[in-house]
Amino acid sequence: MQKRQDITEKVDRAAARAGIVGLDEGVRRRRRLSVLGATGSVGRSTLDLIGRSPDDYEIVALTAATNAERLAELAIRHRAKRAVLASDAHYDELKQRLDGTGIEAAAGDAAVIEAAQMPADWIMAAIVGAAGLRPTFAAAAQGTCVALANKECLVSAGAVFLEAVAKAQTALLPVDSEHSAAFQAIDSSPSRCIETITLTASGGPFRTWDAARIQAATPQDALKHPNWSMGPKITIDSATLMNKGLELIEAYHLFPVEVRQLAVLVHPQSIIHCLVHYCDGSVLAQMSSPDMRTPIAYSLAWPERMPAPTQRLNLTELGSLTFEAADETRFPALRVAREALIAGGSAPTILNAANEIAVEAFLAGRIGFTEIAAVVEAALTAAVSEIGGLALRTLDDVLEMDRAARLLATRLCSLRAA
Ligand code: NAD
Ligand code: MG
Repeated sequence: MQKRQDITEKVDRAAARAGIVGLDEGVRRRRRLSVLGATGSVGRSTLDLIGRSPDDYEIVALTAATNAERLAELAIRHRAKRAVLASDAHYDELKQRLDGTGIEAAAGDAAVIEAAQMPADWIMAAIVGAAGLRPTFAAAAQGTCVALANKECLVSAGAVFLEAVAKAQTALLPVDSEHSAAFQAIDSSPSRCIETITLTASGGPFRTWDAARIQAATPQDALKHPNWSMGPKITIDSATLMNKGLELIEAYHLFPVEVRQLAVLVHPQSIIHCLVHYCDGSVLAQMSSPDMRTPIAYSLAWPERMPAPTQRLNLTELGSLTFEAADETRFPALRVAREALIAGGSAPTILNAANEIAVEAFLAGRIGFTEIAAVVEAALTAAVSEIGGLALRTLDDVLEMDRAARLLATRLCSLRAA
């Protein structure tokens, strides 16, 4: 599968797609934007930025899972054309809340996909989990420039997703902070000049905890991220370090490097988000306060920049930035994810699906914290014999593998809960 080789070409294509070309010639027009996962952490940060420049943007569609009240409120505030819930059960409430506003209401998974297909220049893909695959694929396939927060598209369906993006001749703009940082730090040198890309990790709330204490960690402990305010799924992934493992897979697909050229470094202050090391010894890093509005603003304004109301860095006040190696004994999820990346094929799809199920089980109090990584590893081992090594060529193949891996992981969780 072809990886992205040429950043310059990517810039040109994406700029053309996003309607950015010609800004300097005074032909600026309002850009049409949609936000998938509008009520979530990334979705709300995106709308916060958009709301500060209402003359520059026109909102086409906003989508969410179940929260009719919050979605209707956002749709009215941002004058969206359409508001869509994945859940049919909340359609009546959404319709009632939008009555008389002129905003179309719709519900159901098919309606979320249709919303993603409404003509737009740019779309924020910020649904959490593999539920984001079909809508994000739909937007990419019709050529909308995709700002990608939903890392699952690359983890679960990497090669298939990149093929869809390439076929539609559109562009992907990374939103995950580390990947946005790498995107910003990759200069115009040929890709062979990149030696390594290092993703930083905060280390999560259990960075300094010993193994026995981690074993007894509760969902409440794990949901207390030291630096970032995020949705619950990614917050748990940050505590296990699975998030960094998923991000290695994401980086592998986004950037012109091999697995051995990807590294992880624990940096508890979350100020440096990624470092790109070049063959002449230069290291370019991107720094900013831990606030997703910086990478989101970069994806919104790119290839320009726009103001973002984030806390400015005060290095004197910070005093020092510290770094340490990731401990894969206390946090085995990172190793398990790297092994899945190396194994390739359907392994990353199984990893992601099993992890979603295990995190859900942990949050519901059915399994312990350290069992999350154990369930994922057991699912990967069992999948080889139970599911087999199906080659994933299409999105349907990926979703079929995802479904089988969820069943397997659910069974493994109940065995552990028993
Ligand atoms: P969140 O839980 O705060 O929000 C998720 C959004 O998806 C909500 O709007 C929810 O209504 C919607 N959603 C959930 N299930 C759905 C379904 N089945 N169908 C349709 N919509 C559904 O999550 P988040 O933290 O904003 O994360 C969103 C994505 O961005 C994830 O893939 C995450 O890994 C990635 N990401 C998030 C951050 C962050 O700071 N929050 C940083 C980097 C990457
Ligand atoms: Mg990240």
